[in-house]
Amino acid sequence: MRTPIVAGNWKMHKTWEEAVQFTNEVKEGVPTVDEVETVVCAPALFLKEMVDLTTDSSLAIGAQTMHEEEQGAFTGEISPVALQNIGVRYVIIGHSERREMFNETDKSVNKKVHAAFKHGLIPIICCGETLSEYENQETKEVVTFQVDAALHGIKREEVKNVVIAYEPIWAIGTGKSSRAKEANETCRTIRTALAQQFGDDVAKQVRLLYGGSVKPDNMKSFMEQDQIDGALVGGASLEADSFLQLVEVAK
Ligand code: PGA
Repeated sequence: MRTPIVAGNWKMHKTWEEAVQFTNEVKEGVPTVDEVETVVCAPALFLKEMVDLTTDSSLAIGAQTMHEEEQGAFTGEISPVALQNIGVRYVIIGHSERREMFNETDKSVNKKVHAAFKHGLIPIICCGETLSEYENQETKEVVTFQVDAALHGIKREEVKNVVIAYEPIWAIGTGKSSRAKEANETCRTIRTALAQQFGDDVAKQVRLLYGGSVKPDNMKSFMEQDQIDGALVGGASLEADSFLQLVEVAK
């Protein structure tokens, strides 16, 4: 009953020409949104062009972060208003790289989730434990805390529409993906936490993605899990072929 999602996170990769080429190669190959939702979260500079190129396609375009305020003296930042204005549909919030390197906190993540809903953007909220938290078996507490904090004060009708990406930090860009069964159990923990806060009915509708070294050859093992509804993919989303292969597996 939950439509799968494959979301690419390009991070700080590609030139404008490469972004356009990828978009043209992928936009006709993606399935309809009732089969698999496909999203590419690109550097901010390319978003407008990519939105314009995909008006007749099911491929949705997302941002990788945004500021929580609508406007103001925030040099270098991008507002939710500007993203909505150019037709961006999704926004990644609280990626571990943003948390670690750009001082995003659970509090600012929560403000950004509120701002996303206010401006009609679907947040892809990231959570996940560090290697030492994993080794100390703190994963469940860490992700539960992050998810509760991110969704503080969000209405039930909105929570249904959030997408949550569970990304163990030690698995991102390392080639070491989490074992699918283990990732599934963490996703089950997240869904239980959602049910406690917002009710079973809401929790059942939220899409949970796995992220961290997902590739076309391990995608199936994640998609087979009952709690995992798709993937947030960095490295393997950069090439059109590989992105389309991931989408094929998600069908
Ligand atoms: P990766 O990145 O697929 O390259 O591990 C995932 C992410 O950071 O979202």
